[in-house]
Amino acid sequence: MRIDTRLAERLKKVNPSSTLAINAKAKKLKAEGRDIINFAAGEPDFDTPDFIKAAAIDAIKSGFTKYTPTAGTPELKNAVCEKFKRDNSLEYLPEQIVVSCGAKHSIFNALMALVNKGDEVLIPAPYWVSYPEMTHICDGTPRFICALPQNNFKITSKDLEKQITPKTKALLLNSPSNPTGCVYNKDELGQIAKICVKEKIFVISDEIYEKLIYDGQSHVSIASLNKDIYGLTVTVNGLSKSYSMTGWRIGYLGASKEISDAVSKLQDHSTSNPVSISQKAAVAALSSPNDFFAKICEEFEKRRDYCISRLEKMNKISFVTPRGAFYIFCDISKTMLDSLTFADRLLEEASVSTVPGSGFGANKYIRISFANNLEQLESGMERLEKWLAKF
Ligand code: PMP
Ligand code: GLU
Repeated sequence: MRIDTRLAERLKKVNPSSTLAINAKAKKLKAEGRDIINFAAGEPDFDTPDFIKAAAIDAIKSGFTKYTPTAGTPELKNAVCEKFKRDNSLEYLPEQIVVSCGAKHSIFNALMALVNKGDEVLIPAPYWVSYPEMTHICDGTPRFICALPQNNFKITSKDLEKQITPKTKALLLNSPSNPTGCVYNKDELGQIAKICVKEKIFVISDEIYEKLIYDGQSHVSIASLNKDIYGLTVTVNGLSKSYSMTGWRIGYLGASKEISDAVSKLQDHSTSNPVSISQKAAVAALSSPNDFFAKICEEFEKRRDYCISRLEKMNKISFVTPRGAFYIFCDISKTMLDSLTFADRLLEEASVSTVPGSGFGANKYIRISFANNLEQLESGMERLEKWLAKF
């Protein structure tokens, strides 16, 4: 008899999530009584709105606590279709929608459904930490497209074209972006779409920060541009950031029926349905009036402007003004520290937590989150400024 006690090869290339680890560390230190200012937060600081909580409480009270269809309840899938139509000019039928346990899960499912061993997935860098790792888990190869600060961290269609090979399968696009806050406009998306259609490349469009967008800009869904790109795109969104529902774990995707059937099958044999109670809460959230976001967005824009006004005066740091999401991606190369050392020392010596850029493919950067109240942002900026004066 042969006994093999080795773990599967699958996870050998995969690193743990630096964003989750740092957030957990900051929360732990805070719970232990240390006065930490959390600039690492990857979630909005406001509470889930009461009308959403009430829908979940009703669901529990009325016994809506059993399995639902794998891809989500018909009620929620209809609400998602309405949302796509209302906010994104996207026509999806309920059978094209799969609701999952967070947008992270939706992206993972999409990669599982599309990527064969050795297929290349194009990822603009800096990127959100999980994209390359998920690609590895799916036996794909991440291929990075360098997005330069001179172009506001956006790739152009030329940059994209240069990285296409016979193995290219998909492009992972994230607008507004985590960690850079860049936002692609309609023209830029149009040019990217043209190449993807010409080369038959799938697009996984992660639109989770859609509602957090500043300077009067509007969000454009790449799939809404024309029929051809619609057929190749998996549009991913979720409730975590826009409704402050990170713990409820609801994300969703809209795609061709072929892709959504494959994703649904995968979910049948992995998680089954997302939590029934969260699904009821999600229906309430998605059916709420759109002006709900205006106030939140205004508040986040104020915070961004405050942080920028402070960071501009710190001569060891430079940055590109983010147009969306709630992060400022700061170039720290003038301090001569790598991002891990910078973040570690800042936490130890000044009690401010940030996320090192290494996890985002940019080791000369750190990510500062402004998902925090103004008072905390003020103290954090004071500490950062004082600490930087050492260099
Ligand atoms: N995409 C990006 C770019 C994110 O920052 C996050 C935040 N975790 C997600 C997807 C996933 O969000 P969730 O799984 O909470 O819906
Ligand atoms: N998306 C957030 C972040 O980047 C939350 C943590 C995570 O899921 O990675 O910080």
